[in-house]
Amino acid sequence: MSDIRKTEKVQLHVPDLEELRAVLKKGLDDNFAEVQVSVVECPDLTEKPFYFPVKGLCGSPRVTDVGGVPYLVPVVQKHKEYDMNAIAKELELPGAFMLGAGAVSSRVVGMNAELIPLVRTEAEGRPAVNSSYLASINPVDGQCLQEKYSQKFSDCNFGMLGNLYACEGRPGKVIEVRAKKRTGQDSIVTALRKTLEAEYPDKSLAMGGSFIMQKGKAKIHIMPREFSVCPLDTDEDVNNWLKHFEVNAPLICQSVLVSKDPGLDLRVEHTHFFSHHGEGGHYYIDTTPDSVEYLGYFMPAEFIYRIDRPKETHSVGRD
Ligand code: ZN
Repeated sequence: MSDIRKTEKVQLHVPDLEELRAVLKKGLDDNFAEVQVSVVECPDLTEKPFYFPVKGLCGSPRVTDVGGVPYLVPVVQKHKEYDMNAIAKELELPGAFMLGAGAVSSRVVGMNAELIPLVRTEAEGRPAVNSSYLASINPVDGQCLQEKYSQKFSDCNFGMLGNLYACEGRPGKVIEVRAKKRTGQDSIVTALRKTLEAEYPDKSLAMGGSFIMQKGKAKIHIMPREFSVCPLDTDEDVNNWLKHFEVNAPLICQSVLVSKDPGLDLRVEHTHFFSHHGEGGHYYIDTTPDSVEYLGYFMPAEFIYRIDRPKETHSVGRD
């Protein structure tokens, strides 16, 4: 396991949900033709199409950026491995529910793959519930292979990097976002992030949550099973190594976004998705702006924790 002792913690700005609702509505209107943003009771996330191991996104919301792309490129550092149960304790929230985007532990899984983390971590007297998915390249046809993590593995580990939203998993009030027909250039996640950055230029805010891309197609990637034998020094090198696909709605996407990096060398947004038709991976943006429809649930985080920040860093491969 990697050394996670040198965790940095920063308090974030948390507007009240009604203020946030109005800010996000105004910002998303610049990027989508039809936008509704509301403060609602979180839907029961144990139900279709989420099937999460907890009911809601509420209770001590926080985000973390663990490791980073510098542990993947230019040269992989395979020993960088983390246990979500330990991460939850590091976030001062043992037993937390966590969602987001990461990579599998190649030691455990025996290859490289995208991880779509959905974990209720262990607490006293209660074992962890791992509802995560992994998405890899199928060696048979070179296409996407999505699998339930718990069907093959019993741990809660991940490798190299992870962007996670953590909370107690309780019901409660959340921000609901409905958006149709993309008129701007930004993905829904980037639009949310840039809206917060523009409204609060001197503050750092973060949000995490889940959104459904209900209609349309999306541009995605999946990392190859094998790490690159040559160093990946540029964004172009990384993009040539990654496998790119176009996939179909409905997609259930988990996002973590930070409006402004408070000097922690963060990846400011990261979204991974799963589906009930066998497609999963890293989400960039819809490719069908005229017909796309989104429904999402988000919560602002109170703290960000930077865990095992790479000493040697760079900005390659953070899209
Ligand atoms: Zn990713």
